[in-house]
Amino acid sequence: MEDLQSISPMGIDNKPMIIAGPCSAETEEQVMNTAINLANNGIKIFRAGIWKPRTKPGGFEGVGQDGLEWLKQVKEKTGMYTATEVATKAHVEAALEAGVDILWIGARTSANPFAMQEIADSLVGHEDKTVLVKNPVNPDIELWIGALQRIYNAGIRKLGAIHRGFSTYGKHLYRNQPQWHIPIELRRRIPNLPIICDPSHIGGLRELVAPISQQAMDMGFDGLIIESHCEPDCAWSDKNQQVTPDVLNFIVNMLVIRDTSQTTENLTILRQQIDNIDNELIEILNKRMRVCREIGQYKKEHHMQVVQTGRYDDILRSRIKLAEEMGMSGDFMKVVLQAIHEESVRQQIEVLNGKRTNL
Ligand code: PEP
Ligand code: MN
Repeated sequence: MEDLQSISPMGIDNKPMIIAGPCSAETEEQVMNTAINLANNGIKIFRAGIWKPRTKPGGFEGVGQDGLEWLKQVKEKTGMYTATEVATKAHVEAALEAGVDILWIGARTSANPFAMQEIADSLVGHEDKTVLVKNPVNPDIELWIGALQRIYNAGIRKLGAIHRGFSTYGKHLYRNQPQWHIPIELRRRIPNLPIICDPSHIGGLRELVAPISQQAMDMGFDGLIIESHCEPDCAWSDKNQQVTPDVLNFIVNMLVIRDTSQTTENLTILRQQIDNIDNELIEILNKRMRVCREIGQYKKEHHMQVVQTGRYDDILRSRIKLAEEMGMSGDFMKVVLQAIHEESVRQQIEVLNGKRTNL
């Protein structure tokens, strides 16, 4: 990972960097209309998907090459930089040929090392380009870093990551689970790598774009990529999460950008408190695990099953209620309890198998 540390910033100095534009380029009129509106609102980088990865065949798969001409026009008429998604060698070649400034790699592609290598190989000799790599659909940070590394090894130094959340089974508030700890770990592993948040794909709903954007700013992200369409309700893809250029302007202007590097004395004291509380938390968890192992011993002696679902349900219900009464999110408490339960089951099984004799 050493070498990735030396990547340079993206050469666009307004922080946060904002990339905006429709999910997909649909028609010349829609692209130009949206782009002019965004440019009038001070946006400097225009995004539009030309080749769209669709979950099932038969959906709108993008306008293809025609859209590249429209991006050229956007550049000529508004002076904005342009950005589009590439997923194959042919896409890269066509986008480079058309003078697209920023290429991004989508979540389905960054999950595939063969595709990433093919894209990286076709970027050799184009060191002036900026490449942004979205996180893979699955929450695998090594896969994300590996994808970035392939692009870096192709000579690209204007490199950045886009956090677009992670796909999951079932219905949730967010379309893609943010799992913020993953981009935070990426920042820890590669401190100089710019990380941009994609609140549109994380939230999946236009009402969620503003709060997620603010959260990203509070967490020190370097920019935002937001889907914006001149007529969101008529969009051919992702219509529920797109905002008009005017709404986008409002959202961006409302963002509070805090100086994250300022450390005050008060903050140091508060951080010490957090350190102490975390230590207490770990000790308490350890105490709880010891009791679980004793229960494991009891179950072993009485030939009982380790997992008693009735009891687990009661625990979940009562603890989540308590947490909610204290102002915490029930979903958060559920995740915590599930993780604790998983570890206590693991330890009880060790007791059962005689792998752990000292309780
Ligand atoms: C997109 O940006 O429109 C897109 C398809 O995103 P993702 O790869 O994050 O799903
Ligand atoms: Mn989209």
